[in-house]
Formats: sequence, C-alpha cells, structure tokens
Amino acid sequence: MENSAYSDVHISENFFKEPLISEQQQAVMQKIADIYKVHGTVHPLLVPPETNLQGKGNLLSTRIPKMQQIRQNILDYAQTQEGGGSDGDFALHAQIGLMIGPTLDQILLSQFNDPDRTNKSWMEIDELNTQKLQQKVQSLLDEQTGRYQIFLDRYPDFRAALRLLTGDILTEKNPKKLDELVKNFEMCAIRETQSGMSFVTLLGMSESWTLESDSGQLPHYRLLEPNLRIIMLLEPKRKLQLEDLYQNLYKLVANYYQSPKTDDGETSAPALVAEIAVVSAGTEVLSQSVGEAFDSNGLVFLINQIKNRASLEKVYEEIEHRGKFPDYSLHLLSIILLAHEAGHKSRQVKVAGLEELVPDMTTLLAGIDYIKASGPKEMQEELLENFILHSLGEFIFQTQDNDAEYRRSSYYILNTLMEQGVLVYTDPHYALDLSKLDSFHLKVQKDHAALLREDDLAENTPRTLAEQFLRLKLGDQIKPLVDRVMRGIELK
Ligand SMILES: [Zn+2]
Repeated sequence: MENSAYSDVHISENFFKEPLISEQQQAVMQKIADIYKVHGTVHPLLVPPETNLQGKGNLLSTRIPKMQQIRQNILDYAQTQEGGGSDGDFALHAQIGLMIGPTLDQILLSQFNDPDRTNKSWMEIDELNTQKLQQKVQSLLDEQTGRYQIFLDRYPDFRAALRLLTGDILTEKNPKKLDELVKNFEMCAIRETQSGMSFVTLLGMSESWTLESDSGQLPHYRLLEPNLRIIMLLEPKRKLQLEDLYQNLYKLVANYYQSPKTDDGETSAPALVAEIAVVSAGTEVLSQSVGEAFDSNGLVFLINQIKNRASLEKVYEEIEHRGKFPDYSLHLLSIILLAHEAGHKSRQVKVAGLEELVPDMTTLLAGIDYIKASGPKEMQEELLENFILHSLGEFIFQTQDNDAEYRRSSYYILNTLMEQGVLVYTDPHYALDLSKLDSFHLKVQKDHAALLREDDLAENTPRTLAEQFLRLKLGDQIKPLVDRVMRGIELK
C-alpha cells in the first residue's frame, strides 16, 4: 500500500510501549482463572472445542454443576476488592449473576436435551426454569428500597436489560422477532459502555450458535440461546488506546474494500465493548468468543491473555527468529482480532465457505500496514517479526477449528506465508525471512481483490477463484510445523 493511504491514520507512538491492561485488572483475570482451576475445571476460554452436538451437551452437563460454586467464589472475591465490600459494583454484579445464572444454564441444557428440533420459546422448552428466572428478575426489579434499587439506579441500562428478561423474550419463538429483541439487549450494553460505567452486562446474545450442527451449518430451526456475561471494562485510559487502535484498523481495513457492503448500511466503526469477562452463564459456560459483532452497530471484544497462549509459545520455540516473546503480545493479538472483526464489518461475503477467509486476508494486510505506520522506527523489524509469529500462532491453532470456513482460511494464510518465502522450511527447521513480507502482502492483496470481484458477480455466474479456495488443503511444507505445535500443546 502507498504511504498516502496512511494519511487518515493517526497512531500513538507509545501504543506498543504501554500495557493494555492495568496490573489490578490482570490480577482479576488471573484470580478468575484460578477459581475455575480450584474447581477442577478450566476457564471457558480454554475449553477444548467439541466437534459434535452430543459432545457439547455432555460437556455442558459436566460444567454446569460446578458453575454455581464458581460464581459464589467470584462473588466472595469481588467482596474483598478495594472499595467494594458487599455493596461494591463488582460484588453486586456478581450477586445478580449468582441469582440468575443457574436458570440460564438450565434453559440452555434443556435446549440441548430437547429431541424435538423445532423453534421453541424458552417457556415452551423449559417452563419451570423460565418461570424461576422471571420471578427472580421480577423480585429484583420490584425491590423498592435497599441496595439493588440504589445499584440499579446507577446502572439504568442493566435495569433495562433485566426488564427485557421478564418480557416477550421468554415466550417469543419467531426468529425475526427474537433478532429485534436481541438488538435491545445490545443497545443496553452499548449505552452502558458509552456512559463510562466500569461494568457492562450482556444478556441474550447468542442465536443458535452453540446448537449449530457439526458441519457448521445453521440448524433448520433457530433458538435464542440463553447467555449472560458480566464484564469489567478496561480502565478509561486503556479503553481509549484500544478504541484508537480499532478506529485506525477499521480505516486500514476499509482501504481494501472498494465499496464496503454491510447488511445494516452503517458506515461508521461499531461501538467497541472491550471487556474482561468476570461472571458467565448459559452459552458462556461452554466457551467464550473473543470477538463478536452485534446485530446492531457494535462489537464486543474480550481481552484475553490465556487463549491460544500455548500454541503461541510453541511457535516461538519451533521457528528460528531473533527476538524473544514480547511484552506486547496482547497488543498484537488485539490487532489480529480487531482487524478481523473490522473485515466482517466492511463486507458481508456472499460465497458460502469464504466468510472467514476474506476478513483474515485483510487482517494480515492491515496488520502489516498498521505496524509500518505506527511509529517507533527502531522497533519496526521487531514488531513485524512478532506480528508474523503471532499470526502463525493464531492460524495454526485455527487449523483445528470445528468450522470448515475457519480451517480453510488458516490453510490459505499459512500456505501463502510459505509459498511467498516469509516462512522458510529446511527440513526439519523453520525460519522467518522478513525480506519477503512485501511480496506476501502484494499476493494477498491481489487474491483478496480478485475474490471480491467474483463475490460481486450475480449468484449464478461461475466463480473460478472461489472454487479453488473452497478446495484448499494444508500444504505439505507447513504441515510438519502445525503437527509439532499442536502436539506440543497436548504435552503441556
Ligand atoms: Zn470471523
């Protein structure tokens, strides 16, 4: 890309030099991971992917019995937090999570266990727990005096979200109407984020995502999956840094889409809800996604330092390079994940099966652009090297994904890094050659543009390149690396 394209991009020179998460919030993340461990289970970010519905259902039924004790321990911990006690924001959020979490878990389990796969409302699928949920939420809202009342006065959008949880959402089964109801939840979370509160509650986000069939195809029926995540927002200074990163990536990504086509006609960057998940229920018990676009113009982004860390470290062991594992690992992961979400936002890909490849292409393009534009010249080589190593870690891990569109995208990125000579294989060693980064960039840019041209064609026109990409396999040269990294994780 020419330098002129950066004219609109304003990047802080210090971005990579300052931590993204405060020490205090890092301690919270660590503590929560430890609480899961104490109960003989792992943090939802680390739950291994399950390949089929029955497996997911089994996993859910082994995790759910532990969740209430985990949520109780998180509450105990929240009450010890500075300025907190039992009336602190963290503690009261955790308390409400403890109150409504179990019913959300149970409704999800009932959805898994329902043999009759048709659209059903929560009330139809699990009347007992849905009524319990409604009563619990109603009693919270009805409390006229006391701590919840004062607390919800401070968090009016949390109150609004809870109120939604007593209404139509319980009896609705029409997928279109459910979509609208979910948007109301999202708007509560966006307003809460923008009002500068330190906690945000997301409710009812998932739509037949966990209950997808094995092939990654949407099931023929759609259910609203119960979902709760109570999240701690980043401290204002760090939140600004991340928003700034996102705005810049959004512009850099948009450069590669001549005419961005979004389904909602929004052209501005979505509101960013950057979070540390503290309390989970429903689908969040099974796994947490690190980035997820709202149906409305928003995006939730889970800052995480633990997911895929093992594959990253293994990549650093396996590939010959000059540097060490960087302090700014989280910054690099944020670039990769936020650029990916920006790609989804810039374009809804029509060719089925390439939905993840197209944004992953611009993730690499914009990531490299960003680093080249981002200041500290003395750090650039080092930053690019670490960016490529982090991309390798992410995409190698993604080769194991349940969904074919993710695997296919990984195959493309990994094969192309190899074919363009950025990654060099001299059996049995792998090394990086950054002098080939420009030709890699050019090749991806060309493929991306050609794919978009095909995507613009009418439905019934043949798509030669897309056909070729749909058949992608992992190249022979990269396969040994993927095997070694994945085996290395298992041994850890
Ligand atoms: Zn995606």
